[in-house]
Amino acid sequence: WPAASGLAVDDQGFIQVNEYLQSISHDNVFAVGDIAALPQRCPKSGVYAVKQGKILARNLILAAHDKPLKKYKPQRHALSLIGTGDKNAVAAYRGGSAQGRWLWWLKQKIDQHFIAKYNQLRRMSEKETSYNNQLADEAARQELAALTMRCGGCGAKVGSSVLQRVMRKLPSTARDDVLIGRDSSDDSAMICVPTGKVLVQSMDYFRAFIDDPYLFGAIAANHALGDVFAMGAEAQSVLALATVPYGREKIVEQSLYELLAGACHTLAPSGTALIGGHSAEGAELGFGLTVNGLVDAHRALRKQGLKEGDALILTKPLGTGTLFAADMRCRARGRWIDQALQQMLLSNQHAVAVLHEFDVTACTDITGFGLVGHLYEMLHASALQAELELASLPVLPGARETIAMGILSSLQPQNLRLKRAINNHAAVSDCQDYALLFDPQTAGGLLFGVAAERATACIDALRSKGYANASTIGRIMPLAETQVSSQHAMQAPITIKI
Ligand SMILES: Cc1cc2nc3c(=O)[nH]c(=O)nc-3n(C[C@H](O)[C@H](O)[C@H](O)COP(=O)(O)OP(=O)(O)OC[C@H]3O[C@@H](n4cnc5c(N)ncnc54)[C@H](O)[C@@H]3O)c2cc1C
Repeated sequence: WPAASGLAVDDQGFIQVNEYLQSISHDNVFAVGDIAALPQRCPKSGVYAVKQGKILARNLILAAHDKPLKKYKPQRHALSLIGTGDKNAVAAYRGGSAQGRWLWWLKQKIDQHFIAKYNQLRRMSEKETSYNNQLADEAARQELAALTMRCGGCGAKVGSSVLQRVMRKLPSTARDDVLIGRDSSDDSAMICVPTGKVLVQSMDYFRAFIDDPYLFGAIAANHALGDVFAMGAEAQSVLALATVPYGREKIVEQSLYELLAGACHTLAPSGTALIGGHSAEGAELGFGLTVNGLVDAHRALRKQGLKEGDALILTKPLGTGTLFAADMRCRARGRWIDQALQQMLLSNQHAVAVLHEFDVTACTDITGFGLVGHLYEMLHASALQAELELASLPVLPGARETIAMGILSSLQPQNLRLKRAINNHAAVSDCQDYALLFDPQTAGGLLFGVAAERATACIDALRSKGYANASTIGRIMPLAETQVSSQHAMQAPITIKI
């Protein structure tokens, strides 16, 4: 194909390049490694290709700036080591040769060291995160330099023209009960609370845990909506607080648009309106949402209200905390993260109808405090205790593996302080899934109590709505008579069954 593309090639079809690794027929094309035919006949081996790669990277930048290119001078001698298939190797260097097992050992060491450089990525230092000006033109450099003196306070707001352009591109989210929304230039939004309904409100804010602003916006919105769905409410409207990293206007605009477009993607199916908010520039991408929900006052679900004998149901699998901690360390497999993201995008909205249909007694969503943290709040509010079946916990693929690697969320130690809520902690703390009880969740599932005899039908209903991992994970029990007056009972109302 190089010949067919019109590039000058040698008689064997390799791309002919000059000493700057630049095609002799097309000076905007560079070639290195096996595909290149260099003026000085150069062996086609990785040893040479790797050295050429460095010169290539340098010359691409220099060519982009119309600056003189750097010459590639191949090393005059290179060690050749060829394995002979029987754990021996033959070496050739400067006309001499040798063979033996030790040379095989040496080859293994050299190869493993080279590959490890790509598998064990070093941490990026603070210095390396500073702006790399090499490819920036003068205008861009001036803009980047100005970033270091960005204003705070109101001056940290994203510019109004940027904001207007972003707002115009976002889909409209009008609703009858939103009297003044983001399309208007008024100072505040104005919403109606229909007669007979009450307003429920909740707020969340996140630092970005993923480099894709759209996906981040979509998941953050889903997480924030979870609180009103846990109350059995309908999501009506949201106010958004977006922090976008300092940057050139175009980049800020694109990031803000992607973030809000992702949020709107999540809001659309529930008909939730984005009615306003605030946007600012900051050190890193961050996103928060204040959610307004509507519910009939007598139908609002709360953490209190669990009943003796209730089955405890969890709608989504656990493990996002450990998985994303592993992802940051490049230790999580892509398919684990993909599956976790799918769960994080799964809305709790469809479960609300099931909650009402099955007369759920109390409900919460599982987020930062982990399963034990949120269950404890329910038990405390309901003055009851619970038995959790460790083997019944739904778990995200890969979460057990990342926990086995010893990788846990930075919030885990704080959540683990609530081990005092587990009355048989010492007996179960070595069990495989124990750490998952304290794993903080982003956009986690709903946890609720339902009459035990209706649990199976309730799980079926949830699964038919897309919550494939919905499971009964335990049951609610009365406090023992001796426990009622005991402070300890309320401190340790959870028993883990293995
Ligand atoms: C069995 C074997 C053992 C070797 N052992 C050694 C050794 O011990 N030491 C050593 O120094 N050298 C060794 N070599 C040689 C060394 O592997 C090569 O010289 C070196 O990999 C060349 O690097 P390259 O980047 O030019 O090409 P490659 O490493 O071949 O990379 C080219 C890439 O381009 C991709 N590609 C091809 N066509 C297309 C297309 N149309 N579109 C998109 N992508 C495409 C290919 O999939 C490939 O990933 C060995 C070679 C072989 C075959």
